[in-house]
Amino acid sequence: MFVSLLRKAAALALAAAMAVTGAAQAAAVQVTQRTILPGTTYETTLYVIDSGRDGPTVWVSGGVHGSELAGWKAAERIARWSIGRGRLIVVPHANAPAVRQERRSATGDPDLNRQFPKRAGESAKTPLARALWEELRRYNPDWVIDLHEAMGNNNLDPGSVGQSIIVYPTSRMVSVANRVIRRINAGLSSTQKFNLMRYPVEGSLADAAGHVLGANAAIVETSRTYGLSTRINWHLQIMRYLLEELDMEPETSSAAPAASGTAA
Ligand SMILES: [Zn+2]
Repeated sequence: MFVSLLRKAAALALAAAMAVTGAAQAAAVQVTQRTILPGTTYETTLYVIDSGRDGPTVWVSGGVHGSELAGWKAAERIARWSIGRGRLIVVPHANAPAVRQERRSATGDPDLNRQFPKRAGESAKTPLARALWEELRRYNPDWVIDLHEAMGNNNLDPGSVGQSIIVYPTSRMVSVANRVIRRINAGLSSTQKFNLMRYPVEGSLADAAGHVLGANAAIVETSRTYGLSTRINWHLQIMRYLLEELDMEPETSSAAPAASGTAA
C-alpha cells in the first residue's frame, strides 16, 4: 500500500515535470532552414528563427553585394542568434555567386540591388531577385534590414553613404532608426558616427520592401575605410539595438562564431 502510494506520488511528480518540460519546449526557439533556388549557382540558405512567441517579423539580409564583406559576415552570425519574441528571417548570402567572388555582382550579372519591383504590380527583373522577392512576400516581414557597405564616409564626404542607416521613411522606421543611431553613436567619434539618410535607391530590396510591401525598411551602410572586424561589430550592434528596440529580446552573446565562407 505504502509502496504503491509512493509509486503514485513519483508518477505524479514525473508527470508534472514532463508538463513543465512540455511547456518550455512549446515556447522554445525553433530554427528552420530553407534553400532558395536549389541546384542553381544562386542556391542559398534562408534561416527562420522563430521564438514561438508573439512579436514582429524581422528580415535581415547580407551579401546582396558580395564585395561588402562586413554585411554578409555579420548576417552569418545573426543567423545563429536567438530571440525571445517574434520571428527573425536571415539570408546571409542573398547573392551567393557575388559573395563567393567577393564582388559587387558576380561576373556577367547585373546589380542585384536594382532588380526589385519599383511599384506594386511590377515583378522583379532577374531569377534571383524574383526568388528573394517571393521569400519577402511569403514572410511579409514588418521590418526589412539589408546590410551593405560603402567605400566612403558620409561624415567626411556628404556624397557617400558610408556610416549611415538609409531608411524608407515610415514614421516607425525613422523613430526606431533614430533611437538605434543615438545608442551606437554614444560610443563613436564624430567621424565614425552613423547618420540617418532617406530613400534607398529605386529598385533596391529595401526600397521595394518599403514602397511595395509596406514594411519598415532600411539599408545599413558601414564605411570600408575602417577595419573589417570593426565594421562587422557595427552591423551586429545596430541589429542587436534594433531587435531590442522592438522588444524581441535578442540573445547574441552565447552565439557560436560563424564559420567563414559559406554558411551551413
Ligand atoms: Zn551595397
